[in-house]
Amino acid sequence: MLILECPCCGVLADETELAPGGEAHLKRFGPGASDDEFEGYLFMRENPRGVHFERWRHVNGCGKWFHAARDTSTLEVFGTYPAQTTEPPRDIRDRISARRPGWTWREFA
Ligand SMILES: [Zn+2]
Repeated sequence: MLILECPCCGVLADETELAPGGEAHLKRFGPGASDDEFEGYLFMRENPRGVHFERWRHVNGCGKWFHAARDTSTLEVFGTYPAQTTEPPRDIRDRISARRPGWTWREFA
């Protein structure tokens, strides 16, 4: 069972208390975006077997959105952090690098 700590209220919540919100850190484009950029924002998603950054909502708790870094194949959780964060915090990225040597970072910006 997937258990995530909500960074907003500090509760350890299992998956029955949470709602998935898809991939985290999607790059949003403004009104001048090309059709390809807008299509990518709407439809193109990572689907890795391994480290992934996701949005979750503590729906049966405080109701707030947050981000989680986890391994999709082992369910190992590297950490959770507020949804207002534009990229994974350094301590979580360091934890992933220590546990998954050779894992490469995607550009977040
Ligand atoms: Zn919460």
